[in-house]
Amino acid sequence: MARALLRPDAQGYFGPYGGRFVPETLMAPLAELSAAYNRWSRKRTFRNELRDILAHYAGRPTPLYFASRLTEKLGGARVYLKREDLLHTGAHKLNNALGQALLAKTMGKERVIAETGAGQHGVATATASALMGLSCTVYMGAEDCRRQRLNVDRMRLLGAEVVPVESGSRTLKDAINESLRDWVTNVRNTHYILGSVLGPDPYPRMVRDFHRVIGDEARRQLKKQAGTYSPDVAMACVGGGSNAIGLFTAFIEDRKVRLIGVEGGGRGETLGEHAARFDGGSLGVLHGTRTMVLQDREGQIAATHSVSAGLDYPAVGPEHVLLRDLGRVEYTHVSDAEAIAGFQLLSETEGLLPALESAHAIAHAAKIVPHLPKRDIVLINLSGRGDKDVESVLEYLAEHQDDAVDPEIAGVSVHPAVHKWGTPRGGQR
Ligand SMILES: *Cc1c(COP(=O)(O)O)cnc(C)c1O
Repeated sequence: MARALLRPDAQGYFGPYGGRFVPETLMAPLAELSAAYNRWSRKRTFRNELRDILAHYAGRPTPLYFASRLTEKLGGARVYLKREDLLHTGAHKLNNALGQALLAKTMGKERVIAETGAGQHGVATATASALMGLSCTVYMGAEDCRRQRLNVDRMRLLGAEVVPVESGSRTLKDAINESLRDWVTNVRNTHYILGSVLGPDPYPRMVRDFHRVIGDEARRQLKKQAGTYSPDVAMACVGGGSNAIGLFTAFIEDRKVRLIGVEGGGRGETLGEHAARFDGGSLGVLHGTRTMVLQDREGQIAATHSVSAGLDYPAVGPEHVLLRDLGRVEYTHVSDAEAIAGFQLLSETEGLLPALESAHAIAHAAKIVPHLPKRDIVLINLSGRGDKDVESVLEYLAEHQDDAVDPEIAGVSVHPAVHKWGTPRGGQR
């Protein structure tokens, strides 16, 4: 099974999912990219150069950290965190941006483009472009530009051009549409650095390969630090699914390891109120790939909501759908409220502000870890740091001071933090 899984077929299908659903004009560029990736990713020169950059510039290997206070607090299995929050620019996204930028340069491209939602992938791409002397344009929904001013400023300071996208809902999916349009027009000198395991082949497998260093390292580190290659559980949050697949790939063939992906459950079960594709989604095509999509009965892409911008997307990477079908990975979701509780839990017990995306995995861990034997090991991918989310968290806490909190997580903390600080900004309600 595992071999077939790791290598999609020649058309880029993971079982029935994936493929290349793009306009005719993009078929040749995708074939060119696929051929270049197949060729260079096998060459020692390319691999060594990327490895050096990851080590000396980006900060790999990232640590594996035994979270002893969190473990004690939860009172069950031992919790280890893979510290992607310590990677340069503060999240796992740089692994992929550096890999694709190096590939673009190797292919002789002079310019890269990228889409970005909250701006994290845009910042990673702008960073990789500055490092490699590539010109960089980032498409970002106008609404997202407004919400994430700091990241827009960071990208511009890194020398990138940021283009606000005014069409549609003025968010991530419109930015992807605009990036594809640019790529069609400028494909001769331009490479499109897509930011997750989404889109047409070869992106889902290429982005996964650039991130599998996460799981490969964690496996070796666990052996050194805990005496085993195999955690009992490995878990990660799932937006497009890149940090999760980066962790899971190292453990897929190790059937002892239970794998769990955590989606953004948002603020309710109704379509439009969440980003739980495995719960409320159905099979469809979005941005060039066949996968689980949140859509209405007529096939219109649904609005999504998550307190975490990185999980707020209507589709999921196609390989994840196959892994779900095969029963190899379990997918679940936690609500906005639970994710905020997870954020507070990790902040207060370990001194680590997690990205709100990663806080979803922490929150789910807080639910299951207390029920697991003390000798078990739970490995969580801490995909990014939470400095970018401080404002969102405070806003959330201000708006929800009076809400009841899910007892499963309230038992270990938390929303009351807001009372400690008095009335936050936003003032009287
Ligand atoms: C973008 C992002 C995610 C979600 O993207 P995936 O492709 O699902 O990994 C998760 N965590 C952080 C910190 C991010 O920036």
